[in-house]
Amino acid sequence: MKKLQNTIYVKIFMGICKSCSQLLQTTNINKEEFKQLSQSFMQNAIIGKNILYASSPQELKRYMIFINSMKPYNLVIDGLNVAYAMRTKTEAGSLKPILDIVEEFHKKGQRVLVIGRIHMLWWSKKTMKLIQEKADTFFTKNISEDDPFLLHVTLMSGPQTYFISRDLMRNLKYKLIDPHLKNVFKTWQLSRQYLYKINKHKKTVELIEPISFEMKTQKSEEGWHIPFTCDTKLILPDSYSLPEKWICLKNKK
Ligand SMILES: [Zn+2]
Repeated sequence: MKKLQNTIYVKIFMGICKSCSQLLQTTNINKEEFKQLSQSFMQNAIIGKNILYASSPQELKRYMIFINSMKPYNLVIDGLNVAYAMRTKTEAGSLKPILDIVEEFHKKGQRVLVIGRIHMLWWSKKTMKLIQEKADTFFTKNISEDDPFLLHVTLMSGPQTYFISRDLMRNLKYKLIDPHLKNVFKTWQLSRQYLYKINKHKKTVELIEPISFEMKTQKSEEGWHIPFTCDTKLILPDSYSLPEKWICLKNKK
């Protein structure tokens, strides 16, 4: 078994096979699917069946006016998620990692939006001011959910927009009723969501690139790439992490 592992299994890095250097097929959501996903998300995750899942009618109105005049964005940050990741005993949440991300993308000429909750404004006023010089901000009431807004504005900004959060948003995916749209949602999410790690020692945030290629068996003219596992844990269809091992099979020339 050990020998097999060394000879057959390969790693995929940034969508490139380490054995044959082939680039895996990139994620593909067509225009119609993307449009359906955006519309369905608004209907099912934000408005619901006559119920405002996420918010109040007044807040929803304020949000719609805001995004209709301010979109599109290149990047939307889940402010509370990032701020809580670096909380300390003395601090409810830290705005510093948000500022670091904002500055990084602002340098590249990207339009950034930070979605958060109102109580974040009571943290460091100085850091918030620096964030607001380089990014737009939208804060929901403390009792409202902010994740539906985060995903909605990302979708409304177009298929090329990214978002940053460590939350896998499974509860929101399940609000989409159509099984096909649930799959489209996951494919979209994997290719658009930056996850991140917090380096507590250096007090920095390290972004993890979205997975922009199809995480399933791929066939091309040259052969096959098959995700694989040797341990007892199966690769579940609902997995959000990249299978570590792949098999690279090439056609004989
Ligand atoms: Zn290969």
